[in-house]
This record gives sequence, C-alpha cells and structure tokens, in this order.
Amino acid sequence: MSERKAIADQIVRHLEFYRDLGVRWISRGQAASSAAGAGTEKDAAVVSRSAAATAHSVPSAVSRAFASTRSMFDAVPQMNETLEQIREDLGDCHRCKLAAGRRNIVFGSGNPHAELMFVGEAPGADEDEQGLPFVGRAGQLLTKIIEAIGMRREDVYICNILKCRPPGNRNPESDEIASCEPFLLRQIAAVRPKVICALGTFGAQTLLRTKEPISRLRGQFIEYRGTRLMATFHPAYLLRNPGEKRKVWEDVQKIRDYLRSLR
Ligand code: URA
Repeated sequence: MSERKAIADQIVRHLEFYRDLGVRWISRGQAASSAAGAGTEKDAAVVSRSAAATAHSVPSAVSRAFASTRSMFDAVPQMNETLEQIREDLGDCHRCKLAAGRRNIVFGSGNPHAELMFVGEAPGADEDEQGLPFVGRAGQLLTKIIEAIGMRREDVYICNILKCRPPGNRNPESDEIASCEPFLLRQIAAVRPKVICALGTFGAQTLLRTKEPISRLRGQFIEYRGTRLMATFHPAYLLRNPGEKRKVWEDVQKIRDYLRSLR
C-alpha cells in the first residue's frame, strides 16, 4: 500500500470514529488542512467505508503516519467533552437490559488524560459491588502488570466495553454492546490515549470488529481509529493460565517502550 493510500485510509477511519460519536460535520481548520489535507467542510456521514473492513490493519503500512508525533486526533477539531460530561450523559442508564440486574454502573477510573488506556470486557461481581473497574482478583493482577512497566494505576485509565455486569458474568450480547460502545468511544475521545490496551478476546474483537483469535491479535500494535492498540490476554485468563504471563509481559513492554519513545 502506498503511503498516500495509507494516510487516506487513516483519515477515513478517523472520520468514521467521529461519525460514530455522532459528529455530523467537521469544519475547516488549520490543523485539518495541514495535517490531513482536508480543506473543506464535510459531512462525516458520507464516509461510508465500513469500520469492520478497515479497523484491523497491521501497522507496517501506516508506520510513517505513526512516526509523526502529531496524533490524528489533532487533525480534526475536538469535541472537548470531558469524562464528567460523558458520565452525566450516561446517567442512571437504562439503555439495555443489564440495568435491571446491576448494583452499580462501572464507568471507568484513572487519569482523565492518561497516555495508556486499558479496555476490559465487563464488570464482574466485585466491580459491580464497588462501582469501579478491575478491583477483583483479575484487577489486582492488572495492577501488578501496570506497576511492572513502571506506572501506577492512577497514571492510566481503565474501563470496559460494557458498564454493567452481565448476569452470572456471561458474555456480553450484541444489543448491550450497541448501547454501551458509543460511551466507550466518547471516553477514548476524551482521554485521547497514546495507546489502548485491549484486554482479552472480547475487548479486542469488539474494538477491532474482528473474529480473529486473541492469540493472533496480541503482540503487535494495530492501528485503531488514529491511535495504537495492543491486544493482550485478559488478566482473568492469566489467573487460569499463568504460563501465558510471559506473553503479556512482552506485550506491555512494547507499550512501555513506545510510550518512552515519545518522551
Ligand atoms: N474483568 C473485566 O473485563 N473488567 C473488569 O472490570 C473486571 C474483570
């Protein structure tokens, strides 16, 4: 793929991201015209290419675009929405059937301007009880993983695809994802992380719109809506399969090294 085509694809994915957030148009701006070459007002809804078809591309083709210190987030005017505003909009959510069985909404926690954002699957019993993500056994392991790369939990932002606990920790269902994912996308837009770490099969497959197994997705940076995504095994899986910890260690070291390279 030529560099021009790679950049064009990246712009398309970026516009799709804003369209999914509900942005109907973007205005001409200095950054937009210089960074993306998009000089005219444009209806984001006209971007029709399917995210499913484009979201999963391995970075080599867009490595030059990544090499730029300017994020694609800088190329389009910001929504300037804060996490507090998104949380307020979520309210006492009853958009899907999970509301009936939850104790607490688990919105997310951590640094609102984190360079690194972890996205898990859905709250479990402990998280539902406390209203905080990753506070159970898997969460304690996640904390160790974060600390192993020289960061603290407070430095990163942690959330899930779903904000309410599915009964009996069953897998999330598509209508639940459809209701909840827009809020996750808005959280990503508010935090603007340099790297998203998708935890486990479900988180990775949902974000990337793919059925590829996590074993194939993990271990490499994948372009995701203008930022970098690293999929890795879920800490709950590591509790059952401790022999896989080394692979997660390799994955998070790549994240650490990339974040260091930006400083
Ligand atoms: N597993 C998840 O995916 N998320 C949590 O918050 C806790 C456990």
